[in-house]
Amino acid sequence: MNHQHSDVARMDRLIDRGMSAEDARDYVSSLPEFDASMAITTFMHCGKCLKEHQDGFTTDGVPQSPRDYASLEIGYTKRGFQVWCKRHECNVVHIDLEAHQHPAV
Ligand SMILES: [Zn+2]
Repeated sequence: MNHQHSDVARMDRLIDRGMSAEDARDYVSSLPEFDASMAITTFMHCGKCLKEHQDGFTTDGVPQSPRDYASLEIGYTKRGFQVWCKRHECNVVHIDLEAHQHPAV
């Protein structure tokens, strides 16, 4: 059930970005099966972006979700990894992994 909902949401987002429905369906069906145990349960956002979003700011004048308004980059640091807001040039969060390697998906 969640898997199917997730596939529909993925296809809708790709179609919104200009991909044909057929290409979106082919692309999503080529992805590995969604592992619900690794699904995001709480999204992380820049507080300044969230405030702007709540105040009605948008990137292009069209109402958008916090996800679409976000302008984040994520990368490894010497101690862990960091989420950085490109719009506000500020740290959103830094996760210290204590030098442990964690596998990617
Ligand atoms: Zn921001």
